[in-house]
Amino acid sequence: MKEYKVALLKGDGIGPEIVDETVKVLNKAAEKCGFMIKYTQELIGGAAIDQTGSPLPQQTIDTCKSSDAVFLGAVGGYKWDTLPGDQRPEAGLLAIRSTLGLFANLRPAIIFSPLKAASPLKDSVIGDCLDIMVVRELTGGIYFGTRGRGMEDGAEYAYDTEKYSVTEIERIAKIGFEMAMKRSKKLCSVDKANVLESSRLWRETVINVAKNYPEVELRHLYVDNCSMQLVCNPSQFDVILTSNIFGDILSDEASIISGSIGMLPSASLSEQGFGLYEPIHGSAPDIAGRNQANPLASILSGAMMLRHSLSEPAAADMIETAVNRALLVARTADIAGDGLPSVGCREMGDVVCAEIDAM
Ligand code: NAD
Repeated sequence: MKEYKVALLKGDGIGPEIVDETVKVLNKAAEKCGFMIKYTQELIGGAAIDQTGSPLPQQTIDTCKSSDAVFLGAVGGYKWDTLPGDQRPEAGLLAIRSTLGLFANLRPAIIFSPLKAASPLKDSVIGDCLDIMVVRELTGGIYFGTRGRGMEDGAEYAYDTEKYSVTEIERIAKIGFEMAMKRSKKLCSVDKANVLESSRLWRETVINVAKNYPEVELRHLYVDNCSMQLVCNPSQFDVILTSNIFGDILSDEASIISGSIGMLPSASLSEQGFGLYEPIHGSAPDIAGRNQANPLASILSGAMMLRHSLSEPAAADMIETAVNRALLVARTADIAGDGLPSVGCREMGDVVCAEIDAM
């Protein structure tokens, strides 16, 4: 029987609760589809600080590098909030992303039909369904550029620099085009080329990369227009390709359209296709340890891992279908409604497993 190795980083707050439910669901889908996943649990974030003094111990890095994929819950919590920036749990997260060279962030924003009413958008705006994939550059641009402060004419100033090389743009553009080829062959590249030089290089490079993908229909939007279009006509989008800062903002906007932060998965990929999978939400310390968290974002991240890193698309489809059906049976508190029973994190995991069992 095929066996995959997954590094499991549960992290802090609700991390352990949602990851436990994800493992339960992944194992159920694996059993149905005839493969096995061997998990190696390692420390990250606050839990790692408490036990080793570092938010990302070397042992965690080594296990991640020798695995087929990495699965992460969430990091952070009140207990570590007063530590200096580079010693906080979140530093472990940034460090694992850069150590593994995870430059491509995939964030699907999907409205599951049973949850249409949970979206802040009207039915007439959403249309039949919404399924957008934001492909965001994750290790370049203004978040990693030169920054500083100084004094000029007696007043303090500060600056940050947006810098992209052709190589950085090409590699994320390729991910965007490959994604479009697997979906509806439509790609929207988002920039601010009317003002920013870095965006003009972004646009020229994307146009060049497009020559290798003649089947993909490419269009360009300025980021301000894209942000407006996302809430007035979201169904026009399929794959959105954009830079680090624009992707950060647009993917949060796209995600809230789906109703709850507890529903949204993500994948971060390296040039070699190695992947780290995690829900987009944080460690939710306000509800941690109470069996109240919605495990579905984490479970859907598990489905992304099966599809992108473990090449088990049938098992991924099975989990996504099971989540859709589970939403008609029971809901966690953040998505409660439609007269359905309100259940806890563990019970929601059980409902998804039962739906897989029934397939
Ligand atoms: P958060 O995403 O943890 O929580 C925001 C709100 O959403 C809270 O009210 C929380 O209860 C709710 N929520 C989040 N996930 C939920 C789920 N699965 N089910 C139900 N409700 C859910 O963001 P925050 O409060 O800004 O940050 C809390 C901690 O998480 C901080 O330490 C922050 O640095 C960290 N954080 C970590 C990551 C990560 O690990 N990738 C991402 C964001 C924030």
